Amino acid sequence: MTGKHDDQERKLKSVMDTHHISPQLQDQIQELTAFHTYPAPGVLIGAFMVDYALELLGMSPDLKLYGVCETPKCLPDALQVMAHCTTGNNRLRVVPIGKFAITLNGHSDTETTEAVRVYVDLAKLKTYPVIDTWYANSPAYDKHTMKDKLQDEIFKAGRAILASEKVRVKVTPKKKWKSVTCPGCGETVPDYLIEGDHCGACGSMKYYERSS
Ligand SMILES: [Zn+2]
Repeated sequence: MTGKHDDQERKLKSVMDTHHISPQLQDQIQELTAFHTYPAPGVLIGAFMVDYALELLGMSPDLKLYGVCETPKCLPDALQVMAHCTTGNNRLRVVPIGKFAITLNGHSDTETTEAVRVYVDLAKLKTYPVIDTWYANSPAYDKHTMKDKLQDEIFKAGRAILASEKVRVKVTPKKKWKSVTCPGCGETVPDYLIEGDHCGACGSMKYYERSS
């Protein structure tokens, strides 16, 4: 039985073969697409970004790497799957600036450390009109008729739409903390997350009402 996932995988492989994407990167892109559940354009561009950043950094993703993502859309998944900077291991920081950019750095015990920043270069996008209209969220981009064209152009471009720079990033030291009990709900939270004398769920981060 072939499901939607197999079809998706086969279709993606065929486009990647056409553009001579290396077998290693193809495997990573398939893994990433499965993780994201579909081959979103941002995820595919993200794969090239992380691949490029890893090469510039010259470090293996088997080492402890730290990533920052300047958008919550698509891109965090590329850092999670390919560089193993995850939300759960606390080595991924998502800063909702709204730019398609990442930084990546290795472990450091100093206050700041050198990192590589990889971003989508708007001038280079001019050579790729479909990516350009999609990226600009232009009404000229029609998802229904241009989706395949966009995917083809993303693989054709690869790193050609990216730029990089060396930057320094702040290293966040591990916090020491104590557990405190919230008088509102009786549950405990780390002291550095308390808002005044209440926990976030009883304060500004309240997101549910108890139904019973
Ligand atoms: Zn509370």
